[in-house]
Formats: sequence, structure tokens, C-alpha cells
Amino acid sequence: TSNIGYTPAEKGILIVLSGPSGVGKGTVCKALRSKAPELVYSVSATTRPPREGEVDGVNYFFKSREQFLQLVDQDQMLEWAEYVGNFYGTPRKFVEETLQSGKDIILEIEVQGALKVKQKFPEGVFIFLLPPSLPELESRIVGRGTESEESIRNRMSVALEEIRLMEHYDYAIVNDQVDLACERILGILTAEHCRKDRM
Ligand code: 5GP
Repeated sequence: TSNIGYTPAEKGILIVLSGPSGVGKGTVCKALRSKAPELVYSVSATTRPPREGEVDGVNYFFKSREQFLQLVDQDQMLEWAEYVGNFYGTPRKFVEETLQSGKDIILEIEVQGALKVKQKFPEGVFIFLLPPSLPELESRIVGRGTESEESIRNRMSVALEEIRLMEHYDYAIVNDQVDLACERILGILTAEHCRKDRM
């Protein structure tokens, strides 16, 4: 063939941003939204009650346990997990349609769910966000002021379990500064778009 050029992949890249609760995934994701408006964000479903200021359909789709389990039964979840007593899950159709349309999509989810996504999308890019230190992580969870003492203890013990699973990820980023963390994620994305095996 006379065509020796390369055609970029037509499908978008699935990015999974994960890491322990309180590491600042939400904050990093929010900052990414303004820095990279071309990135699509997956809105999860959850049975957790809304926090002050959270909007249904924007932060989460808030569901009863019954509604949530029905979605699971109907195979509408790409993955789901129980986390500190509540269910969280990623609506499957939106992710598939976004990738099909050639756009990149980012999922901000906890570690169990991320590992399930990896089984279905091994070509995804899995990024683990780390706290600068464990005491720093605890003070962030406490500082949010939205969690009870029991919930803080639970979230810290889950966090330690989660950090052990970092080995399954492609990249690890320390969230010392939100802006820097965003830049690192966008750098990873640029590199991933240039991978020969995606062409
Ligand atoms: P929070 O209650 O603080 O909003 O979220 C608790 C944890 O659930 C966070 O680690 C968050 O990333 C995770 N999470 C949010 N949405 C999903 C989801 O769709 N699936 C999974 N597996 N975890 C999620």
C-alpha cells in the first residue's frame, strides 16, 4: 500500500482514576473538568444519601437500594461495589457510547470497582492517586467534616486495604498539589494516545 501514514484509534480511551477515600479524587476530577473540558466524566449511581450541595444527575444518580439492585439485575452496571455500607456503580451504556463516539471518558471510582473494570477493559488506563502520607489522608477525611467517627475509622481501614492493591494499576500519582496531579494525568493521557498499539 502507498499509505504509510498512521490513523489514530477511533475509539476513545477509558481512564480509571482510583485511590483511597479522602485522597482527593473528587477534587482532582473537578479541577480536571475545567482544565480538560473535552474529557467526558462518568456519573455514578449510589445508594448513599446526598451530601450538602450535591445534585442528582450531576454528582451522582441517587437511588434506593431496591432501585440500585434492579439496575444491577438488568445488567445496566459496568461495575458496582459496596463501599462502607452503600452501593456505588458505573452506568454501562454511557461509558460504551462515549468510547464508541471516539471521546475519552474518566471514571472516578474506588479500588474494587476499578479492578472489575480492568477485567472488562484491559486496554483502559488505570491511575492510582496516592496521599502524600497516611496521617495526611486521615486529616483530609476528618477535615471534610461530613463523616461520623465510625465512618472515618471505616474509611481509614478501607484505605489501607486499597493502597495494597496499587500493584494492579498502570500509573501512580501522588496528590501533593491538585494542579500538579491534573497535569500528570493529562500527560499520561497524551502519552497513551501516542502508544503504537493504539494506532
Ligand atoms: P463518596 O461517598 O465519598 O462520594 O464515595 C466513596 C467512594 O466511592 C469513593 O472512593 C468513590 O471514588 C467511590 N465511587 C464513586 N462512584 C463509584 C462507582 O460508580 N463505582 C465504584 N466502584 N466506586 C465509586
